[in-house]
Amino acid sequence: MTKRITILGSTGSIGTSAIDVVRSLGGDFQIVGLGARRRWRELAQQCALLHPSAVALADESHADELRPMLNGSTRFFGGPPGLVELATLPESNFLVAAIVGAAGLESTIAAVKDGKTVGLANKEALVVAGSIIVPLAARTGAQLLPIDSEHSAIFQAMAAGRREEVHKVYLTASGGPFRTWTRQEMADATLEDALRHPTWNMGPKITIDSATMMNKALEIIEACWLFDLHPDSIEVLIHPESIIHSMVEFCDGSVVAQLGTPDMRTPIQYALTYPQRLPGRSERLDFNSIRRLNFEPPDFERFPALKLGYQVARMGGTAGAVFNAANEAAVEAFRNGRISFGRIVELIEQTLGRHRLQQNPDLETLLSADAWARQEVMACLES
Ligand code: NAD
Ligand code: MG
Repeated sequence: MTKRITILGSTGSIGTSAIDVVRSLGGDFQIVGLGARRRWRELAQQCALLHPSAVALADESHADELRPMLNGSTRFFGGPPGLVELATLPESNFLVAAIVGAAGLESTIAAVKDGKTVGLANKEALVVAGSIIVPLAARTGAQLLPIDSEHSAIFQAMAAGRREEVHKVYLTASGGPFRTWTRQEMADATLEDALRHPTWNMGPKITIDSATMMNKALEIIEACWLFDLHPDSIEVLIHPESIIHSMVEFCDGSVVAQLGTPDMRTPIQYALTYPQRLPGRSERLDFNSIRRLNFEPPDFERFPALKLGYQVARMGGTAGAVFNAANEAAVEAFRNGRISFGRIVELIEQTLGRHRLQQNPDLETLLSADAWARQEVMACLES
């Protein structure tokens, strides 16, 4: 079956890699929709190259610049409702959800409601609203295929056994740029320090999340939703080389891992071609030059975000929405020079501490928890 693909977040790190992969696959893989926030020039270039049938720009202030650059057969959708239009394009059967943050939630839900296959990079959507998305997908038959490298690895390793034979999951983490820094050194780390990731080249928000290890915390919650896991069965393992992308231990003691060079094109391609595998273009592993792989336990004292991740995964309800939104607001404040690096996780912890948890939330409740958390962080910054 031809995969007719829409990419939301097409100008970002995952979005541009996804375009590369689709172009290299050719044939049965076609791009029919592209969407981004405001980088209209790049979006226009992508349209000139790929001739999608529709395009969306979330920030409409540049709509008048983009529109005249589009080919007559490309429809234009503007604003956040435009993202939903794009996610539910009738001519598309596969959404690459690669918007960063809770901004990707509405379009992801819309695609799931529509029964589309979703290649999910936008982990924040599951952290906020896994309790809505996962049951919704079960009802509509929409398939959620992980793009996050660790979750792609877990998904591939899980195929080696039955679900009830899974004993635990090792979620690997590079440790980020501050793996060997003291808490004191980290407290005043600069934006430049935080953006210097040792193994992965990614967008700025997830790179900062990797430095605080909030990324791993979000991934614990993401894994719980994607694979119906209890947080106690997930063990975070520091593996600085980022070659083992995660592992599954089965009840007989066998551990199955997925390995590869740290290149997001591999998990993106696996999601796109699933259930097949097709030749890929990423660099191959050379075990003769690698020689050894290293592991160490995570340090929960230096990286308190990890502890919070486990707590939030156990709390459920509105906790994920608050956790994610507080992080987004705090990361934004750090990027704007308003707070030190060390304050990011402190602000998240304080916000969680003040939150009145609600169980079985509907979408509206989750969205208000998200808005509340952002306001709380703002109020802390102003006081
Ligand atoms: P990025 O910052 O490079 O790109 C983000 C994209 O989202 C851009 O196209 C931007 O236009 C779009 N966007 C941002 N805000 C938007 C809004 N309000 N409305 C519409 N579009 C908006 O980010 P990225 O690194 O590509 O990450 C995207 C997602 O993938 C994140 O959820 C991230 O956690 C996840 N992810 C990324 C990587 C990676 O290697 N980059 C790996 C695993 C998971
Ligand atoms: Mg990851």
